Amino acid sequence: MTDGDHGAETGADRPECVLCQAPTEYPESHRGITLCPPCEWQEAQRTMCSG
Ligand SMILES: [Zn+2]
Repeated sequence: MTDGDHGAETGADRPECVLCQAPTEYPESHRGITLCPPCEWQEAQRTMCSG
């Protein structure tokens, strides 16, 4: 019950994860795509194994 603190609504200004459409805390331009922490981690693992 804090009045005067922004961020009450989730998914208002924040983009959605391109994989699971979950709200993220990243800015609009986050390396071209926007991923939530779990999806970003999985993508990182994939990238590491690619090659
Ligand atoms: Zn996601």
